[in-house]
Amino acid sequence: MPAEFKNEAFINFSLPENTKAMETALARIASQKGGHYPLVIGGEKINTQSFITSANPSDFKEIIGTTASANVDLAEKAVQAALAAFADWQYVSPEERARYLFKAAAIMRRKKFEFSAWLVEEAGKNWAEADADTAEAIDFLEYYAQQMPKFAAGMTVVPSAGEQNECFYIPLGVGLIVPPWNFPLAILTGMTAAAIVTGNTVIMKPASTTPVIAAKLMELWEEVSLPPGVVNFLPGSGGAIGDYLVSHPKIRFINFTGSKEVGLRINKLAAGVSPGQKWIKRVVAEMGGKDAIIVDNEAELEDAANGIVNSAFGFQGQKCSACSRAIIVKDVYEEIVAKVTAKTKALTLGPASDPAVNLGPVIDKNAYDKILEYIEIGRKEGRIVAGGAKGAETGYFIEPTVIADVVPNARIAQEEIFGPVVALIKAEDFEQAIAIANDTEYGLTGAVYSQNRAKLEKARREFHVGNLYLNRKCTGALVGVHPFGGFNMSGTDSKAGGSDYLLLFLQAKSVAEKL
Ligand code: GLU
Repeated sequence: MPAEFKNEAFINFSLPENTKAMETALARIASQKGGHYPLVIGGEKINTQSFITSANPSDFKEIIGTTASANVDLAEKAVQAALAAFADWQYVSPEERARYLFKAAAIMRRKKFEFSAWLVEEAGKNWAEADADTAEAIDFLEYYAQQMPKFAAGMTVVPSAGEQNECFYIPLGVGLIVPPWNFPLAILTGMTAAAIVTGNTVIMKPASTTPVIAAKLMELWEEVSLPPGVVNFLPGSGGAIGDYLVSHPKIRFINFTGSKEVGLRINKLAAGVSPGQKWIKRVVAEMGGKDAIIVDNEAELEDAANGIVNSAFGFQGQKCSACSRAIIVKDVYEEIVAKVTAKTKALTLGPASDPAVNLGPVIDKNAYDKILEYIEIGRKEGRIVAGGAKGAETGYFIEPTVIADVVPNARIAQEEIFGPVVALIKAEDFEQAIAIANDTEYGLTGAVYSQNRAKLEKARREFHVGNLYLNRKCTGALVGVHPFGGFNMSGTDSKAGGSDYLLLFLQAKSVAEKL
C-alpha cells in the first residue's frame, strides 16, 4: 500500500510525446465509437429494447455509443442484486476492499490517455480538462483506499473498569449513485469508490449525456474482478427509474451530485418512508453554485483577470465551482473589465479534440438553449463586452461571454447558468463586495484577490462558501488538498476528497462486553 497520498500529476501537452500519446488514444477510441454497452446487474449483462444514445457535443451527428436503458423491473433487479452482494461484501476486510481501488487506479493510470480521449469526445472537454478529470478519478481511488484503514480502526472510546468497549464502523447498505455529467469520470468514480470501499454495494445510474464514459468505468470494475453486484451499472432516464429507486424501501442512501432542482427533489422523496422501509435514508447532495471572485482595489490585477477568465471558462463554465460573478471594487473596475475582455477575446472555440482549442462545446441541446437564453437576458441586464453569440452550428458551441455593468440582483447574477457566461459587478468597496458575494442562495466556491491582510482575514471569516480561495482561481480543487463541497443550496457540504468523506457511508456501532 503506498505510504502517502500524492496527487496524480497533470500531463504536459506541450511535450511532443504527450501530444502523440493523446492523438494515438483519440485514434484508438475512434474505432470503438458507436459501440453498445449493456446494463450490468449482479454481473449479468442485460440488453433492453430501448437505449440511450450518446452524441458527440462537438459534432452531434457523430454517435459516441449507445447503452441499454433500464425500466422499473430492471431497477428492481438491480436493487436485489446489490442487496444480495451486500450480504458478503459488508464483511470483506477494509484492506481487501481498498485493494480493488488501488488496482483500479493502477489500470486507469496505464490507460490514462484513453480515458481522457473518451472525455474529450463524449463530454466535450479540451485535452487539459479531460486529463484533469482522469487524474482526479485516479486520485479519488487512491485517496479513499488509503483513508479506509483509518476508519477500520473505529472510534476511540474511554476505558471502563470491568468492561471491554469498542465502537466501530459498519457500512449502511445499498446505495444509489447519481453522478453529474460534468465530471463524468472523476465524480462518478469518487462517489462510487467511497461507497464501496466502506462496504456498501451500489447502483450506478450514470448521467444520460455521458453514459459511455460510465460504461468504461464499469468495465474497469469488472477488470479488477470486483465481486458481481457490488457495483451495478444501470443507465436509464431519471423519469423512468429515478423516483422508483430513490423511494425504494431497500435503498439506504443516495449519493447525488447535480442540479439544485434534482437534488431537492431527491431529498424530498428520500425523506418519505415507503412500506417495508426500516430506516431514515441518508442523502448526500452536492448541487449548484453561483460562485464569485472578488477583486479588491489592492490586488494584483493581472492575476485577478487571469483567475476570472480561467475560472469562468474552464470546461465552458460547466463546473459548479465556476466563476459566474466577478465583483470588482470600483477603483479597479474599468481596468479589470478591459483585461477580462481582452483575455476572453483571445480564447479559441472549436471541437474539443483539436489541441489548440480553449473552449469546446456545451454538453447538449438543453444546455445550449438555456445558456443562449441567459445571454439574451444578460444583453438586457448589462453590457456584453466579449462573446454573446453562437459558434459553428455543427456542435453546441457558444462563445465565452462577458457581461459588464450587471447589478447584484439581476437574474444573471443570481441564477446558475452553467455555461461560459460571467457577469461583472461593480462594488463601492471591499465591504460591499463581500456582501454582494454572499447575497446568493448558494455557497460553494469563492475567491478573493487582495494584497491586504486585513481584507483577506475578513474574507476568511465572512465569505460564506465551502471552498474559499485567496489570490487564486476558484476552480480545480485537488483531492486531499481542497476537500470540496458547499453550504446552503450548494448542498450538504459533504467534502468530497476530504479525510472525513468516508464517514458519510458508515454508521458506528458500540459494543460493551462485561468481563
Ligand atoms: N471539484 C471541481 C472544481 O473544484 C468542481 C466539481 C463540479 O463542478 O461538480 O473545480
